[in-house]
Order: sequence, then C-alpha cells, then structure tokens
Amino acid sequence: MTGQVLEARDVHRTFMVSGGFMRPKRPLHAVNGVDLRVERGEVLALVGESGCGKTTLARMLLGLLRPTSGRLEIDGRPVETMDRLTIARTVQPIFQDPYSSLNPRKSIGRIVALPLEVQGEGEAGRRRAEEMMELVGLPRRLFNHYPNQLSGGQRQRVAIARALVNRPRVVICDEPTSALDVSVQSQILNLLLDLRAELGLTYLIISHNLAVVEHMATRLAVMYLGRIVEQGDAESVFAHPKHPYTTALLESVLTPDPSLGVPDTHLGTAYPNPLEMPEGCTFHPRCARVLPRCRREAPFPVAGPDGRRVECHLFGDAGAAEG
Ligand code: SF4
Repeated sequence: MTGQVLEARDVHRTFMVSGGFMRPKRPLHAVNGVDLRVERGEVLALVGESGCGKTTLARMLLGLLRPTSGRLEIDGRPVETMDRLTIARTVQPIFQDPYSSLNPRKSIGRIVALPLEVQGEGEAGRRRAEEMMELVGLPRRLFNHYPNQLSGGQRQRVAIARALVNRPRVVICDEPTSALDVSVQSQILNLLLDLRAELGLTYLIISHNLAVVEHMATRLAVMYLGRIVEQGDAESVFAHPKHPYTTALLESVLTPDPSLGVPDTHLGTAYPNPLEMPEGCTFHPRCARVLPRCRREAPFPVAGPDGRRVECHLFGDAGAAEG
C-alpha cells in the first residue's frame, strides 16, 4: 500500500520568547513554512543542526504541539480532529534517552504493557507485552525487572517495545541511538530495520548523526532555520547534494570526532540566532555560493524531475541549469 501517512502543509510554529530585561517578548519562528510528506513504508530522515526546528516539527506530528498555522494530517485526517488515543495508535515516538523516558518505579513488563492497560486490556495486554519484548530481543525473564537493572541497549529495546505494543504504523525516532555506547548503536539500528520489515513500519528519523542517517534512510529532508531546504531520495542526496547547506552538512560526516554530537559543518560562522533571521535567503551569511539577490530575496522550493526539491536561487529559474 502506498500513499502518505503523515503530511505537513505550510506548517508554522511560533513561540513568543523573552526579548531581554524590560523588553517585550519576540516571536521565534521555530518551524517556518514546512511542506513534508512521509510515505508509507519509507524511512525519512530529517537532519539539520540543533535548533533548526526538527524536534518541534516532530512534536506537532505526534499531536503534542499545535501548529500556529498550516495543516497537519495523519492518514489524510487533520490532526486537530483526532483524539490522543487515535493518534497514538497510528504514530508513536522513540526518544533519545531511554532512561529518562522510562518510569523507574514500574517493572519492564508494566512499562511495555501500559499503553494496552489504559485501553482496558488486562491479561491479553500482558501477553502482547511479552510477545513484543521477545520481538525486540528482550528475554521474558526481564518482565519483572526495573529500568535501573538493565543496560542502555536493553532500555532502548524496552522503549521500542513500548512504542510498538499498540501496533502503530509510523514511528518517530528522535536521535534513537545518541545516548548509547557506540558498540550497541548498530544493534539498535539493525533491530529498527528488522522491525520495519517484519511489521511494515514507516519511520521518521530525526538525527544529526549522518552515519545513522546513511545507514537507515530511504529519503532525506534537510532542515535549516525552520524550513526544509532540500529533500529527495537519500542515496541521490548523499551522492549529489544540491543545496549548499546540504553539501556543508554532508562534509561534516568526515569530522574526526563524532562524539562531539553537533556536526562541524565547516561553515565558518556559527548557527544564527533564530530570533534574528537574516533577510533574503536565511542561509546567505554562511553560504559559500551566495549571489547578490540572495541577500534580498528568499528562494522558493523548486522540484526536479527526480522528485528532488531544493530551496535555493541556484536551482530556480535562471539557476536551474546548475542543477
Ligand atoms: Fe546560498 Fe543563495 Fe542558495 Fe541561499 S539562495 S543557499 S545564499 S546560493
């Protein structure tokens, strides 16, 4: 079955933040006009530096945060018309730090079974929780253990089991392995891929770790200051990035110390303050290929024949030849 399971159309989310001592609050445009579709069965990776709006967008797609404007749909239905339980049966999150997302006072079995318990499934819920634990590689004997008795990798398996016990169709993974030892990261990523094949899942993966993204993604969306500046087939974007920001971001994969967490984008200047958005193309102060018009005019997204969408003057009208 094809078609999109999640869709964002011109979605904005603005927060009013302190403007400083005795100053009025100012708008921070965390998500600033995003168009994004997540197709059934794909692994869409959303990448970008910290503060670009990835997590805010994910929270809106989970129904945890309302957009300021624009339209969000799950399976063709506007998110605001759906109740929490209906959303939870379709979309589930897996967060980066499994320890802080697991209740330390509840046993592993209770944690995994809880989403079913609240729906009134007693013994059947317990059986399904046990089956799900087995599916993610957790032995049943851990059912009565507590989170502090488990390793980091096991805790992330618990978080995955809990997310999947309701049989959602979409899983939003926010930095799914960044809190784990390097030695267990690939085990968790491979588990996620196996589960996708076995359960027919769709993933939206949010990560600044480009090695994770390259391993998992079928499609890639690159976010900068609240907008998607490039999206397309993952293999093709990795091989031939078009937007200058994507190029800089992908070069960061060569950064010798991946434990730094935030990619060194080799861009020279720091990530801009989102409260002071540059005029024109918001990337222009850091862009190696900046044109005079970039300082005045914001580019619009342009779609290529291969489905690649790029928001950059180099690839619109006169610049299309460079694509
Ligand atoms: Fe660089 Fe101009 Fe393209 Fe922005 S529009 S990414 S400044 S070339």
